[in-house]
Amino acid sequence: MNLDPKDIATCLGQDEDFAGRNGAMMPPVVQTSLFAFSTLDELVDGLSAEHENFVYSRGQNPTVEVLEKKLAKLERGESCKCVASGMAAISAVLVGLLEAGDHILFVNQTYGPTLQLAEHLSRFGVEHEVVLDLDPGAIETAVKDNTRLIWIESPGTMLNRLVDIAAVAAVAKKRGILTAMDNTWATPLLQKPITQGVDLVVHTCSKYIGGHSDVMAGAVIGSKKLMEQIFYRSYLLLGASLGPSDAWLLIRGLRTLPVRLRQHEENVLIVGEFLKSHSKVKRVYHPAFTENSENVESELAGYTGLLSFELHKSDFETVKNVINSLRLFRIGVSWGGVESLVITPARENNADALAVNGLPEGLIRLSVGLEDSKDLIDDLGEALAFA
Ligand SMILES: *Cc1c(COP(=O)(O)O)cnc(C)c1O
Repeated sequence: MNLDPKDIATCLGQDEDFAGRNGAMMPPVVQTSLFAFSTLDELVDGLSAEHENFVYSRGQNPTVEVLEKKLAKLERGESCKCVASGMAAISAVLVGLLEAGDHILFVNQTYGPTLQLAEHLSRFGVEHEVVLDLDPGAIETAVKDNTRLIWIESPGTMLNRLVDIAAVAAVAKKRGILTAMDNTWATPLLQKPITQGVDLVVHTCSKYIGGHSDVMAGAVIGSKKLMEQIFYRSYLLLGASLGPSDAWLLIRGLRTLPVRLRQHEENVLIVGEFLKSHSKVKRVYHPAFTENSENVESELAGYTGLLSFELHKSDFETVKNVINSLRLFRIGVSWGGVESLVITPARENNADALAVNGLPEGLIRLSVGLEDSKDLIDDLGEALAFA
């Protein structure tokens, strides 16, 4: 893992204003909904630029702002807004930027609820399409005259396939199309899409940034101009603001993100090697195991613990038996916390839906946590005896 020392300093808070808070090691939780002014003129001034001033915590809050400045810095973006969940971040981008008649092109396997939101936007005249062929030429061919936004997920949902981010951003730029990328898998420490030409980055901070499965949050990062548009056209009006206590938990989460990621990487490489050489396993889907990465040269500075694998015996009963036989891996949604988790997109009768999303049957997804790696592979070894 190749972390930038500047990013470690940002996560640890070395650049925070300690003097401005009497040397307190952690920033205060400014638990207030509103800010009072001594004159009406000052209030009117504050309201004239609510994206820059503390007026009401649905707009700006000092604790939330500490987190926003860190995430903007880590992503090499000018500006950041944090929100109450990853989906609130995605909603803010789509509702803030699109109009009736626009088309969104989703590149790669995309988080399910993101596509469900896009379905609902068809009620407002916004169309969309998903392209799973990741060749930049194929992506360019899928662009329509009314494509206004290209949405990238890389590594993508479930199969963790990589997109050639710079190539897609270049295609978009040439045609005057905006790009947004869900960078949750890699965190801002391992991949910086803005430096590769992407306009906007979103995160769900509920995953690695929080890191302890105890907080829901999201973030959008981009240029001042685009972020101001999102602030006034969606963020402030959809109203999914982040509370200061949750922002504080995320500031604490960032303190240990670099060291947690190093351990997630160590564990996922051990688990991936074990699975790759196991007779019951057909294929491992993770960017460190390159058979999966098509022809894209990985720009990742390291690897996180989200990995999928495919069983040779792919019927649902077998998938279910393996999952139910795991002890250390708990069965649950989400990922990125200290605990290992397991889930599958397979159901009793959904082979067609899997095929539409380019997913094989017999797929199992792991979030590899921070437990001892020997315990993790012992657990997997025992469960795979049922495959
Ligand atoms: C979980 C997730 C989201 C949604 O985040 P929430 O905080 O659950 O709303 C979006 N994108 C990806 C890739 C995710 O894994």
